[in-house]
Amino acid sequence: MTAESKATPEAVARHYDYITPFYEIIASRSLHFGYWPPGETGGSFAEAQQRFTGLMIKLLGSQKGHHVLDVGCGLGEPATRLAQSTGCRVEGITISPRQAAQAERWASLHEMSGQTTFRCGDAMALPFAAGSFDAAWALESIFHMPDRATVLRELARVLHPGGRLLVADIVLSDKTTPEDRAFLQNAFVARSFISAEDYPYLIRDTGFEVEQVLDVTGNVMTTFDALASAVQGKEAEVRRAYSDEFLAAIQEQWARIAETAKRCMGYVVITAKRR
Ligand code: SAH
Repeated sequence: MTAESKATPEAVARHYDYITPFYEIIASRSLHFGYWPPGETGGSFAEAQQRFTGLMIKLLGSQKGHHVLDVGCGLGEPATRLAQSTGCRVEGITISPRQAAQAERWASLHEMSGQTTFRCGDAMALPFAAGSFDAAWALESIFHMPDRATVLRELARVLHPGGRLLVADIVLSDKTTPEDRAFLQNAFVARSFISAEDYPYLIRDTGFEVEQVLDVTGNVMTTFDALASAVQGKEAEVRRAYSDEFLAAIQEQWARIAETAKRCMGYVVITAKRR
C-alpha cells in the first residue's frame, strides 16, 4: 500500500536546509532519534542522540583502516564520530549541497578532515566503484529515497563481499491506516515506509545476508517528549530564527506523530552482510 509522496530528492534537500538551524538550536548536529536504555527516559535529547550514534558504531564494528560509506550523512556528526572513535575512513554522501559543506566544516573542526570526505550526490546512483567499501550505514535516510531496493542494490555493488551494512529505519505496522501513512510521510518528508516483517526479504533480495533485525521501538519513542523538553528555554531563539507559527506548528506535529507512533510506528536497526 503506497500513498503518493511529495518527497522528491530536491524537496528533501530543501527540507533539511530549512529545518537544520532549528535542530541546531534545540539539540545537536545529529538528525536522528534519541536512544534510551530499557526502562530509562531521562537526560537530554542531544545525549540520547549521541547514545544512539554510539550504539550504531558498536553494531557496525568497523576498525582502523576500514573504508566506510555513510549514505545520507546529514551534517557529518555521526560520520566524524565514527572516524574519530574507530580510526576508519568515512565517505559521506547527502542530497543537500549545503549539508555536504556543513559536514566538511564539522569534520575539520574536529580535525577529522584527513579521515572523512563529504559530497553531494544521490544514493540511487552512488558515485563509487564496485567493491570500494568495507562497510556502509544508512541512518534514518533510506525512507527519504525514491526506491529502497535500488539504493540497497547500489550499496551491495559498492561494498565488497562480506562487507557489513547497517540500516536504521522507521517502520509501519499493519495497523497503519492510509491517513496515518500519508500524515507520517508528510511529517518525515518520507518517500515510503515498509514493515519490519518485510525488511529481511528486501535485504536478502538485494544481495545481503541478514545478521539481525533489532527492534528498538521502545528505546527511541521517548524522542517526542525529549524534543518537547529540548525546546524549553529556547523558544525566543527559535522564534527569532523562524516565527511564532513555526514553533506552534512543529509542536503540534510532534504531538500528533507521538500519538500516531504509539499505534502503528516502529523503529528497526538491521545489520547484514554483503553476499
Ligand atoms: N544520517 C544523518 C542524517 C539523517 S537525515 C544523521 O543521522 O544525522 C537524512 C539524510 O538523508 C540527509 O542527509 C539527506 O540529505 C539524506 N538523503 C535523503 N535522500 C537522499 C538521497 N536520495 N541521496 C543521498 N542522500 C539523501
